[in-house]
Amino acid sequence: MAQKSFTSLARKTLLRRGRAILRLRQDYGDSKAAGDGPDYLVGLSDAERHELEEVHAALERIERGIFGRCEDCGVDINRERLAPRPYLRTCSACDNKTVEVPVNVARV
Ligand SMILES: [Zn+2]
Repeated sequence: MAQKSFTSLARKTLLRRGRAILRLRQDYGDSKAAGDGPDYLVGLSDAERHELEEVHAALERIERGIFGRCEDCGVDINRERLAPRPYLRTCSACDNKTVEVPVNVARV
């Protein structure tokens, strides 16, 4: 598959995921308009908020043309790994090196 079509597929997956997270929130009974300032995050769990941030970050990487590259070592992340979770930041080798730590307790 060409890089371009893979990226646009990943973009679609990300947008769908982002919408699904926000729809989830609306289903929890918030009547405010979606996508209206920072308020649109109100009612999301920490995990949903974090995933939404990852989705946005991945979309930004697509815009910048660095999508699919490992943030640690710079190699292209395996597409079979990336396709179902396009917001991944690291390749499997780097992923195995570091145990995933929530952002707010990451060591400095
Ligand atoms: Zn890596």
